[in-house]
Amino acid sequence: MTAIRTDHPVAVIGAGPVGLAAAAHLLERGLEPLVLEAGPSVGAAVRKWGHVRLFSTWRYNLDPASVRLLERHGWEAPRPTALPYGAQIVEDYLEPLAATPELAGRIRTGHRVLAVTRKDRDRGSSLGRDQAPFLLRVQRPDGAVAEVLARAVIDASGTWEHRAPLGTSGLPALGEEDATAAALVTAPLADVTAGGFGGRRTLVVGGGHSAANSVLALTQLSRTHPGTEVVWAVRAAAPARAYGGGSADELPARGQLGTRLQTMVESGAVRLVTGFRTERLETIDGQRLRVHAADGRTLEVDRLIPATGFRPDLSILSEVRLDLDPAVDAPRRLGPLIDPDFHSCGTVEPHGAAVLAHPEKDFYVAGMKSYGRAPTFLMATGYEQVRSIAAALAGDAPAAEAVELELPATGVCSGIGSDGSADEAALAGACCSTPEPTPVSIGFPTGLRHGRATEGAGT
Ligand SMILES: Cc1cc2nc3c(=O)[nH]c(=O)nc-3n(C[C@H](O)[C@H](O)[C@H](O)COP(=O)(O)OP(=O)(O)OC[C@H]3O[C@@H](n4cnc5c(N)ncnc54)[C@H](O)[C@@H]3O)c2cc1C
Repeated sequence: MTAIRTDHPVAVIGAGPVGLAAAAHLLERGLEPLVLEAGPSVGAAVRKWGHVRLFSTWRYNLDPASVRLLERHGWEAPRPTALPYGAQIVEDYLEPLAATPELAGRIRTGHRVLAVTRKDRDRGSSLGRDQAPFLLRVQRPDGAVAEVLARAVIDASGTWEHRAPLGTSGLPALGEEDATAAALVTAPLADVTAGGFGGRRTLVVGGGHSAANSVLALTQLSRTHPGTEVVWAVRAAAPARAYGGGSADELPARGQLGTRLQTMVESGAVRLVTGFRTERLETIDGQRLRVHAADGRTLEVDRLIPATGFRPDLSILSEVRLDLDPAVDAPRRLGPLIDPDFHSCGTVEPHGAAVLAHPEKDFYVAGMKSYGRAPTFLMATGYEQVRSIAAALAGDAPAAEAVELELPATGVCSGIGSDGSADEAALAGACCSTPEPTPVSIGFPTGLRHGRATEGAGT
């Protein structure tokens, strides 16, 4: 049977910010990366929300190993305090990074990974499993299917392609597929300036940052397009979670997002509907939607923008031995640290290869996908994950264990559950209320909390 050879690469699935960072860290460790990207170019998922402005400044959006690589080729970092749009992340950072001579030949765009397994072994085969190379089945740009062998795999394929359904029981609402096929339900974070929303009534469903972005973009559009109406529906009894930490948020742009949203609701520019649990979508003449809630209420709208979050695609990993948290689909040890029902403030201990490991040796899920269904991932978290993973794959256990993570706090230190309800017991024992742990080490500028990361309130 085939055994792992030293010339087998480490396969990285996805050329988003975290996949490319993984490649940069692997190169620094003398390991050979091979990045397989489904899209036509790097940063394909970020490109889809290129019109959205990030709430974290450049300082938090750059991976240190990637910056070291770029600077060797004369790249100048953007102003650290500037807030980029998604498109700028791709054009000013990911594309130059992918074009460096070190990475250019190691990235295959238009290559979609269809499945990951071990050569000559299915998931049930244990004997000699760790010595067998990984086998990735890959669809190439011409449609042909090829197989690639790898010594290790880092799955950084994100979650963008798999939005969570509108139905509140985890399944699509009745009629959701038909309404989506009729383009009455749009893509998440649809660019409302691209046409189809002016002078119409649009319903945004969801209670996180994506919803806030869409609602605010629509209110902006209504200034130039009379008759544009914005309806915003949340499952929660109150939108406290979406309003966020305001001025207490250490990422001011993130705090302002919620504050602006609140202002728009209070001014009447946005009609807020709370406690709305979508049950059924009825298409009227192929032109409009009647959205039925479980309690009998209905909303009639022209368009619906879903902002209900994302899910990881685990189907490509069905032959890999995973150990996942049953609630959030994150690695079992990470799940309880990020489960939004118990960690509304998003606090998470620094974590690297040890926490991200699965029973499948040398296999890791990193980046947005590592958080499974939890919505609070930040790029900086992923950069630290892949630094630690690369160290582990290189056999540098001390460096893999010395996780260095420091992120700005949201200012949302309350027991607000994922359904948006405030729970007094949770408020008393909210994760942010625990004493500050001893700093682990410092990866970002001072003035921010150390040793644990407090992350976004969700996409
Ligand atoms: C609207 C929005 C705003 C955000 N704002 C911020 C912010 O301000 N700050 C912050 O830190 N984070 C933010 N995030 C969260 C997160 O950091 C980003 O989503 C980030 O892009 C995640 O990086 P990633 O590399 O893990 O995944 P992605 O950027 O999603 O990249 C995954 C890549 O894998 C590819 N791929 C998918 N499936 C396959 C396959 N089967 N085979 C091969 N390739 C595949 C995709 O095409 C994609 O290019 C935001 C997210 C969203 C959606």
